[in-house]
Amino acid sequence: MNNLETPLELESIRYDLHMHTCASDGTLEAEVLADRAVERRLDLIAITDHDTVTGVKRLMQNGAYKTHGLRVIAGVELTALWRNRIVHIVGLNVDVDSVSLATYLDKLALLRRQRAEKIVAKLEKSKIVKLGFLKRLNIADGQSIGRPHIARKMVEDGAVQSEQAAFNKFLGTGKIGDVKMVWPSMAEAIDAIRSAGGVAVIAHPTKYNFTFTKIRELSDDFIKAGGQAIEVSYTGIKSGHQSDLERLARLKGLYVSAGSDFHSPRFGWTEVGKFSPVKDIKQHVLNLILTPSAC
Ligand code: AMP
Ligand code: MN
Ligand code: MN
Ligand code: MN
Repeated sequence: MNNLETPLELESIRYDLHMHTCASDGTLEAEVLADRAVERRLDLIAITDHDTVTGVKRLMQNGAYKTHGLRVIAGVELTALWRNRIVHIVGLNVDVDSVSLATYLDKLALLRRQRAEKIVAKLEKSKIVKLGFLKRLNIADGQSIGRPHIARKMVEDGAVQSEQAAFNKFLGTGKIGDVKMVWPSMAEAIDAIRSAGGVAVIAHPTKYNFTFTKIRELSDDFIKAGGQAIEVSYTGIKSGHQSDLERLARLKGLYVSAGSDFHSPRFGWTEVGKFSPVKDIKQHVLNLILTPSAC
């Protein structure tokens, strides 16, 4: 399934290649997100939910957004391990009907479910939340369950003041709800994306608390495993880091990608299509995605 037949002018295209729906930890349905992109006059979006394509798949089957001239790329943001640390690998232009990807995502859904159960059991045991919390989360079948769902419910229950506080006190690194899981390796994530015809992208590289030396090493391993692009512009990136990442991309021969990582209108600091523009159009990952294949 690909609706990218007509070439777009990369210089003028308005796009967002990283965003979430309520199929994972976003709060909007895919259709509502697409409407928001149309309102904001975007030409192209990639929906990149955590470890699921159910939102974008349904949107593409429905296709109403096409009447507004919006193009939609199927994407996914895979949770993976590199040197025992969690990294996020975005897959762009994946085939939502890929059987191998579906099998891979089923495994992740199970891991996410098991992790949620473990986190909630710990929170209940410490009386931070009341018994029956997991059930009260009301996670739908096929919805990719994440820590933000737990954080939101904790706010609703009055256990914490804000989702941020839930992460800071209970769910973030080193806290009681920081449950380690054996996520697939980065190389496996890249394979899953490539097997589904997609392009693998390192998501928000400055958000892992890695030094730049470590980001370079991550890039080297990523490239060796078949990865092709790196995000250089996204919400929350510190000033100066975009040009550092653009330089790194040039040096390593990686394509560059960018997106808002939009989750919810409730977070006033993010918006669909809102991130600083990428200057080097020649290196843009959309060159890889929008160029029709030779055969
Ligand atoms: P998970 O995929 O379940 O591990 O949850 C990760 C998601 O939680 C990220 O994609 C963010 O949406 C959100 N998140 C991660 N860290 C924080 C934080 N410190 N405060 C608020 N939200 C966070
Ligand atoms: Mn998220
Ligand atoms: Mn992420
Ligand atoms: Mn994301």
